[in-house]
Amino acid sequence: SKVPTITLNNGVAMPQLGFGVWQVPDDEAERAVGTALEAGYRSIDTAAVYGNEEGTGKALAASGIARDELFVTTKLWNSDQGHDATLRAFDESVAKLGLDYVDLYLIHWPLPSRDTYVDTYRAFEKLYADGRVKAIGVSNFLPEHLRRLIGETSVVPAVNQIELHPQLQQAESRAEHARHGIVTEDWSPLGQGKGLLDVPTIVAIARKHGKSPAQVVLRWHLQLGNVVIPKSVTPSRIAENIDVFGFELDDEDLGAIAALDEGKRLGPDPATFDVA
Ligand code: NAD
Repeated sequence: SKVPTITLNNGVAMPQLGFGVWQVPDDEAERAVGTALEAGYRSIDTAAVYGNEEGTGKALAASGIARDELFVTTKLWNSDQGHDATLRAFDESVAKLGLDYVDLYLIHWPLPSRDTYVDTYRAFEKLYADGRVKAIGVSNFLPEHLRRLIGETSVVPAVNQIELHPQLQQAESRAEHARHGIVTEDWSPLGQGKGLLDVPTIVAIARKHGKSPAQVVLRWHLQLGNVVIPKSVTPSRIAENIDVFGFELDDEDLGAIAALDEGKRLGPDPATFDVA
């Protein structure tokens, strides 16, 4: 495919753009993921809590694409944190996906009030040592959580998947990731399609390049050097969102987008989020 890869801190190559399936029901996931694979996506981002690992797995199997050309991410849900529960949850995820390994396994949320992410991550290290995951990482970890994890475990996370878009640019997290060689993976990259794509600055840049607002925003993520995982179930948008490798934002565009940062989250605050 024409999507470039980023090399993770353990040497594994990860496509810089993938397909997110949050809020896609299991019985629609097979079609949506199948459409994405046909459009050229090779990286799929799911999670146990999304409830669509089976539908995702069916699409992967039906595609006939060689396993080593696919990059599959899933995430450990909060209620399964803890060493032994993690190992059981991983077995369930790979069984639902119909795979014998996943490319990237992430701790979905840090749950700092429960204080179980270090034990959880030790189970991730075992899965990694056993070859059942090609890379391990985290999601929604704040810099303080990363520093503690790195201090108490041996494998530096390959990825931290966090909410990041032009209205929440996360400079502090990006700097912390850079210090540790952790790749930043941006969730809700299009701001969940709620308002961001109508912001006049984005619309104007889109007109200037003859591209859509979504394509401009995705280009911005790529030019930051991050991994990005837009979601859509609409075939034309699925195709549009991967058609972002034939143009470049210039310094003026990047400067204008830099000014859109509001530091405002669409999702929960990782410091306090504690839902099982
Ligand atoms: P997103 O920012 O990708 O926005 C998706 C929505 O934007 C779509 O539902 C649609 O309404 C709109 N959209 C998509 N393409 C468009 C286009 N070309 N033109 C106009 N509108 C368009 O939102 P998301 O689904 O929240 O995030 C993407 C992925 O990130 C998820 O599917 C999931 O895989 C991941 N994610 C992870 C976490 C986490 O805690 N780790 C949280 C949320 C999302």
